[in-house]
Amino acid sequence: MKSLLAVLVVTSAVLSAGEVNGKPEKPAPAPITSPDTKPPTDLKFIDPHVHAFSVRPAALDQVAQWMVERNIERCIISPLDHNGSRPRDEAEYQAMLENFSKYKGRIDRMCIIQPEEVETVEQAVTILKREIADGAIAFGEHYGVGLNFDDPKNLRLYDACEQVGLPVMFHIDRNKNMVEAGMQRVDNVLKRYPKCKLIAHAYWWKQLKDADRQLQQYPNLYADMSGAVVPAILNRDRTFAREFLIRNQDKILWATDEGWWSFNKKGNAPYPHYTFFEELNLPAEVRYKIYRGNTEKLFGFKPTAKS
Ligand SMILES: [Zn+2]
Repeated sequence: MKSLLAVLVVTSAVLSAGEVNGKPEKPAPAPITSPDTKPPTDLKFIDPHVHAFSVRPAALDQVAQWMVERNIERCIISPLDHNGSRPRDEAEYQAMLENFSKYKGRIDRMCIIQPEEVETVEQAVTILKREIADGAIAFGEHYGVGLNFDDPKNLRLYDACEQVGLPVMFHIDRNKNMVEAGMQRVDNVLKRYPKCKLIAHAYWWKQLKDADRQLQQYPNLYADMSGAVVPAILNRDRTFAREFLIRNQDKILWATDEGWWSFNKKGNAPYPHYTFFEELNLPAEVRYKIYRGNTEKLFGFKPTAKS
């Protein structure tokens, strides 16, 4: 038993460290929902947080297949800096546009600029205007590697996004878009760019009390519940979680953060996102808003008839 235990410990340490198919920091989440809980069948999800190799032929076909399997009606793909996820030259950019043109109204896209890639707000605005003309509907996933959340290099991007009207989906962790306890740096940006809609993700959820405060305080703040961390955090106190979701029912976006590393996983969903909210006994209206209604409203998707 002892040696078996040792093997298990070593195995889990190996699995939780480093990268999974080039995507960093993706530890397998602990089982949070009962295996008996089924995903909703009375409505379809809309997922605003997905990653794909959008530049490569057939990558979006794989996304479309995954959407059918997961009961997802629409999704939004955001680029990461991996080769194939974000175009590196004009030919790749055109290939990406061609791939998305096949899925108009079903798979949308975000765009990114790395903070060090521009020197002025005007440069960023020029790039973003072209992206919008070519179909981008948001900015993200904004990583801000090695920068404080309100670093001047990040502020240029928020400024530009506010000017062109693109919502920004941001990631926070230990070395990306860094914040201290209380997340004052997020407050600074929300106050400075009140017309820029921000969608919070990742470690922002770890400071749930301040996350709650910011959602209540700032009309321009939303939050997507993708990533392993969110169901785990909400599961710590389900009574609070339910009240939090009801209180912020117009701000929370159901999302998965699935991507090329997870599309082919069959059977039980690798993430508890598909079932966790089903266990919270949410009011029907709140459930609908979170699963899809808020994303439809935020991005101006034409709502389908409620079932
Ligand atoms: Zn992501």
